[in-house]
Amino acid sequence: MSGAYTVSVRGLCEFTARSGDLSARFTPAPTAQQGIAGHQRAAARRGPGYQRELTLEGRHHLLKVRGRADGYDPGLNRLEEFKTHRGDLERMPANQRGLHWAQLKMYGAMLCAKRGLPGLELALVYVDIENDTETCFREPIAALELQREFDDLCARFLAWAVREMAHREHRDRWLIGLTFPHASLRSGQRQMAVAVYRAAVGGEALLVEAPTGIGKTIGSLFPMLKAVPRQRLDKVYFLVAKTSGREPVRHALEQFGTGAEAPALRVLELIAKEAACEFPGRACEAQSCPLARGFYDRLAAARTLAIETLHLDRNSVRRAALAHQVCPYYLTQELIRWCDVIVGDYNYFFDTRAILHGLTQENQWRIGLLVDEAHNLLARARDMYSASLVPAVFADALRAAPPALWRPLAEVEREWRAIHGTQANAYAAHAFVPETFIASLRQATTSLAEHMAQESAAPERSTPGPSTQDRALLTFYFQALHFCRMSEEFGGHSLFDVTQQGATATPCIRCVNPGDFLRPRFATAATAVLFSATLSPGAFYRTLLGLPESTAWINVASPFDQRQLEVRIEPRISTRYHDRARSLGPIVELMARQYRARPGNYLAFFSSFDYLDAVLGLFQARVADIPVWRQTRGMSTAERAGFLARFTPTGAGIGFAVLGGAFAEGIDLPGERLIGAFIATLGLPQVNQVNREIERRLEALFGSGYEYTYLYPGLQKVVQAAGRVIRTATDRGTVILIDDRFQGARVRRLLPGWWQVQRQGGGAYLNAPDDNSYYLIK
Ligand code: SF4
Repeated sequence: MSGAYTVSVRGLCEFTARSGDLSARFTPAPTAQQGIAGHQRAAARRGPGYQRELTLEGRHHLLKVRGRADGYDPGLNRLEEFKTHRGDLERMPANQRGLHWAQLKMYGAMLCAKRGLPGLELALVYVDIENDTETCFREPIAALELQREFDDLCARFLAWAVREMAHREHRDRWLIGLTFPHASLRSGQRQMAVAVYRAAVGGEALLVEAPTGIGKTIGSLFPMLKAVPRQRLDKVYFLVAKTSGREPVRHALEQFGTGAEAPALRVLELIAKEAACEFPGRACEAQSCPLARGFYDRLAAARTLAIETLHLDRNSVRRAALAHQVCPYYLTQELIRWCDVIVGDYNYFFDTRAILHGLTQENQWRIGLLVDEAHNLLARARDMYSASLVPAVFADALRAAPPALWRPLAEVEREWRAIHGTQANAYAAHAFVPETFIASLRQATTSLAEHMAQESAAPERSTPGPSTQDRALLTFYFQALHFCRMSEEFGGHSLFDVTQQGATATPCIRCVNPGDFLRPRFATAATAVLFSATLSPGAFYRTLLGLPESTAWINVASPFDQRQLEVRIEPRISTRYHDRARSLGPIVELMARQYRARPGNYLAFFSSFDYLDAVLGLFQARVADIPVWRQTRGMSTAERAGFLARFTPTGAGIGFAVLGGAFAEGIDLPGERLIGAFIATLGLPQVNQVNREIERRLEALFGSGYEYTYLYPGLQKVVQAAGRVIRTATDRGTVILIDDRFQGARVRRLLPGWWQVQRQGGGAYLNAPDDNSYYLIK
């Protein structure tokens, strides 16, 4: 084994110097911005000659320890570490304070060694971000003592580091020898795999539009893994939009394990806290949960046991956790550091406080990012970076508030009324978020945080988790906190609007262009590949997802023959809102005619449940002999399974569903299980005041307000829904696009190039030239 193992000061200390209980109890913590501002203010108070942000490095055998100390005062020979906090410092758990001291001592040891100092004064400075006061703990210490502590912690980490280096060498060797698990790549899969590999080794970003059926999961994962040794990637993150997206990843990884040599890839599946928790409803602290008690004392044993299993899914992590009586959820978070492929939802990397992104930055990992079904990221990211305050949540908090919170909450109520009191219309967008409103929310969150912290620390607490009142307060607290956080970031990428309904008003910071938030996330990845069956036009996704200008876009050839799919446009029907009533009869007629011409299983998609109800009502009244079943609002998992179970190979009938809903993407009904789809809508989002405002902003930003707000998102849903029909090379089917606007060249250009769209009265439309060709990878 050669080379060095690099570890951050924080990583080293968290591994070796943590003991005792897990305490994720409610503690009012500063936001990242408040933390940075607190650090800067504290550093600015230091005198001339003060040295800020010292980069330090130390060696211990093959360990290289790196870190950045906050500041050094050469006049006082004092090394300082700043930690921001909110509220009573006494509530900080002792093991957290111990961790801070351990970090400071590591910096002290490295500074003494670097400058030949015989000793120095260590100062742990806690900065209260509420009143900007400092509480300082000092300790003079000799260099020899610091070196002894440095060596001690390093020695405790060394055996693990040796093991990790061996694992990495083995992993990279195994990856170099890894071969594609099938005899050959499918049509289109090779094109995709080559493009992904080139992007990965070139450190580029890539958008891949590839039809269902070519094996996108293995076609992206295999080349990304092959690039790991060459690009010296630490980890690959495979991010999915839905839980169901994990299964194909699991399946692909299992196939890699069938070669001659034993696999050497540690894979971790991230799971939500609710799914992993063994004691739902309890607080994550020693008082309430036995798996939090002594967590850090048993973590090392649980970690060692866990990584003996290469594929760490929910069950295997749980087994290791319970064998050593530690919490499975927090063990999973710890295991991120030691696994090679992490599979999880988008939010683990893109959310405002995403753990994968935080750890990547902190440890300076080189990561390869794979984003599955990437068309979903746009809407998901908009949600992540939007914030609204729900009047009913605030009303619940008001009812639950103890006297100490009445005043700050009353102030919020007053300011809340003020922002909509003068608003004449039910909806209005405003140029800025009123400072006084935010100030009242900040004050309320501070008071709420104090209250919740006191409650959770109270020794006489009778229940192991928060009470109903506390839950109401907590829900509002988190909403208000997120609102304040997004107000700090407010800019051209977002709208601030207020929607009035009766006497209540909902203020909302609405993210329109998530690209501004996602750009720095993508910048932390060594390479990023986003793929989906619908990523057209490339410029639309590249811009709104914040990908670099240099991002390549490829459209992978479909493995299907155009003769497999008959695509027809029905131009005599308009599904525009004002034509809906007139459209019902012709749609019913068309569906019945198609069904009688070729009986079998069909899906019919509509723009809304109201439209679906109207067509279904008439269909049932006029066509009694064709079986129908329908999607309803808020279906449970069992109900969704029941809907899909009607599509049997020998069955026949029409399932009514809404476009963009649970049955419009991500479902697989091969062969005779689905032979056709009716799509009675262009999928355009509703024209309302919010969307008009979004359109105006997108027009101002990109000059394509209509396309970016309505046309592209709408057609993306149409193509996804139509994609349910042909799933294998032997499938044959029909898609009927019901609306005269499908005839327009601007709309047809957004339909897949391999479709041959039939003209009314015979013949086919010529396929439009590919607008995205200038993005094609060289
Ligand atoms: S088991 Fe549940 S309550 Fe206990 S620490 Fe884990 S997540 Fe928290």
